Amino acid sequence: MAARIIDGKALAAQVKARVRAGVEECVRQGVQPCLAVLLVGDDPASEVYVRGKAKDCEECGIRSLVERLPADTTQAELLARLAQLAADDSVHGILVQLPLPAQIDERAVIEAIPPQKDVDGFTPVNVGRMMIGEKCFLPCTPAGCLEMLNAAGVDPAGKRAVVIGRSNIVGKPAAMLLLARNATVTICHSRTKDLVSICAGADILVAAVGRPKFVTGDMIKPGAAVIDVGINRDENGKLCGDVDFAAAAEKAGCITPVPGGVGLMTRAMLMVNTLQAARNTL
Ligand code: NDP
Repeated sequence: MAARIIDGKALAAQVKARVRAGVEECVRQGVQPCLAVLLVGDDPASEVYVRGKAKDCEECGIRSLVERLPADTTQAELLARLAQLAADDSVHGILVQLPLPAQIDERAVIEAIPPQKDVDGFTPVNVGRMMIGEKCFLPCTPAGCLEMLNAAGVDPAGKRAVVIGRSNIVGKPAAMLLLARNATVTICHSRTKDLVSICAGADILVAAVGRPKFVTGDMIKPGAAVIDVGINRDENGKLCGDVDFAAAAEKAGCITPVPGGVGLMTRAMLMVNTLQAARNTL
């Protein structure tokens, strides 16, 4: 294997240690950072994510309020609870775990989160600020991808970056952040023609497709930095990314593993944003 592994576990631990120190300082100044997480229904994957977030908060010294609401919660009930949390000065970050049950309009809920408490970076105000390069809460997954490139010593400036995927939570913002770092960015999606050759020209390849081992060895430029966002199960039920790791690692310069990669950094970036939200109130 030629590629260096970008170790998400070690990096996330460093980030969380920095957050912990920042939280202690914040507490000394009289503010206890607090994250409220709302979970509607009993989706098992969401339950795992929410438990992970509570554990991260505990490690960082952040107070967490996890509220579980029944699956038949109405949109009005959820919005009413969000309004209370929005008005509560002791709560600095608010996160509504997605996906939401069918009776609830996801956009309406996201837009009910005040931008200054939107630690997921999903509200239109934060997305707009990111687009124009203003200070804002960056969405955690793409921010984590950029941190991983940084840790690997990869400066996007002047490089060809290819992002596969154009979702609002990963693909599009990842492309924007790479552009802000002066990469020349191509965004690919399900209608893209010549995907293999476009990817094979990438110095930086970000895969956010949601298909196990979709990125094959022939799509990797020798020496490329490969960031694998995907969280999938392979044919044996084993966790895997969007990249065929073994084949890609033969050619890449550096690569993130799954598990142990972007997922852990995503969680760490949520802690960074929550601390920032609390600091902004000092
Ligand atoms: P979405 O399903 O919202 O987006 C997938 C994107 O991939 C779409 O833009 C789609 O194109 C594109 N796509 C699908 N098939 C192809 C294809 N054959 N060729 C080219 N492009 C294709 O997924 P998300 O962005 O939410 O998530 C992507 C992956 O990342 C998932 O595995 C998810 O589990 C994981 N994830 C991981 C996180 C982490 O913390 N590590 C956080 C969030 C997500 P089109 O728009 O044309 O349909």
